[in-house]
Amino acid sequence: MTDKNNHSGLIIGGGISGIVCALELNRLGVPVALIEKEASLGGLAARFCCKASETCNKCFACVVDRKLKEIGEQSQIPQFTGAEITKVVGGPGSYRVSLTKAGKISELEAAAIVVAAGIDPYEASGKGEYGYGVIKNVVTARDLEEMLRYQGKLCRPSDGRLPRNIAFFQCVGSRDESIGNLYCSQVCCAYALRLIRAIRHKYPEVNATFLYMDIQPAGASFHDFLNACREDEGVRFIRSLPSKVYHSPVTDDLRVRIADPGRGEVIEESFDMVVLSVGMVLKKEAKALADLLGIGFDEEGFLAIPPRGSGLFVTGACAGPKDIDRSVTQAKATAALVHNYLQGR
Ligand SMILES: Cc1cc2nc3c(=O)[nH]c(=O)nc-3n(C[C@H](O)[C@H](O)[C@H](O)COP(=O)(O)OP(=O)(O)OC[C@H]3O[C@@H](n4cnc5c(N)ncnc54)[C@H](O)[C@@H]3O)c2cc1C
Ligand code: SF4
Ligand code: SF4
Repeated sequence: MTDKNNHSGLIIGGGISGIVCALELNRLGVPVALIEKEASLGGLAARFCCKASETCNKCFACVVDRKLKEIGEQSQIPQFTGAEITKVVGGPGSYRVSLTKAGKISELEAAAIVVAAGIDPYEASGKGEYGYGVIKNVVTARDLEEMLRYQGKLCRPSDGRLPRNIAFFQCVGSRDESIGNLYCSQVCCAYALRLIRAIRHKYPEVNATFLYMDIQPAGASFHDFLNACREDEGVRFIRSLPSKVYHSPVTDDLRVRIADPGRGEVIEESFDMVVLSVGMVLKKEAKALADLLGIGFDEEGFLAIPPRGSGLFVTGACAGPKDIDRSVTQAKATAALVHNYLQGR
């Protein structure tokens, strides 16, 4: 069975970028539909935890909850969740997109297509020396986010007890020649420090060691936030990236080998848990979609801006690493571009 549906704008990807772009286009009076391959909207950021300490630490996770509620109450924007795009034909001003959802085929027509297909966290097992997927108490920041959000507590995966001493490894999957990703993922310094702040607030007995190369600032108040982290005696900053994690099968504790620039020597330290601050890569499905639409890639492997007049637009983290706040800002700007394009036809 085939449905025909005509929309001026079609948004592909129902993460925070796609949701905000759809809401903004709707506000501008543009008939718009949203396609999401997963069963629910929200994307990666819908699973992040609140990182407030004594105060809000501006991680923006609750912005996603708010926008999800807003679009859930919006009946003017058709939402196709659990839908797979199988074909795109046509050209600028008149695209036809075929999708399947639960065995049913639909065809949507649109004058403009916005790709907001997002990112995947870097697959941490690619850094074999850190032992992710092999050593239980090595987790990614994404695992930690989900642990804090859904289990509501901090615990070591191996035995469920509170880790007293956690190491955060920065730049995992970013700025790393050995894996061919030279770009900075922009968000991992800020999210790791916010996680540390939230953990130290709830569990003052837990100490954190932040192992980094450089600290990427995020937003206007980041400087004060960073100073507060530096003044916290339970947080240690070491400007060095670890070379390897060793595991004790008896205690499940971890030994980490670090080149200590302060002492000019390689040291080994014990930790209860290691958190890998993974960066972002273009989502696998975003790559496939770009190929389907004839959209190119930039030198870092993210989506290139399509030519003006093509009726194709890209927005959000698939167009380059960015946090939720910058994704929201870009999604609104993209909606304005789409609106102008449709008016100028
Ligand atoms: C570990 C980690 C922690 C982070 N923590 C923070 C934080 O604390 N604060 C912060 O501001 N930012 C954080 N970020 C960044 C944040 O995740 C991004 O800014 C945000 O997810 C970008 O939203 P998006 O909508 O562009 O992409 P996504 O969230 O990736 O959403 C894209 C959506 O498109 C859908 N999609 C993809 N392909 C298709 C297709 N072919 N058809 C239909 N649908 C498709 C996907 O299923 C997904 O729902 C973090 C990132 C990582 C990796
Ligand atoms: S810390 Fe993050 S989720 Fe919590 S209130 Fe602040 S912005 Fe919202
Ligand atoms: S944001 Fe920080 S941790 Fe992430 S890649 Fe950039 S410098 Fe490294």
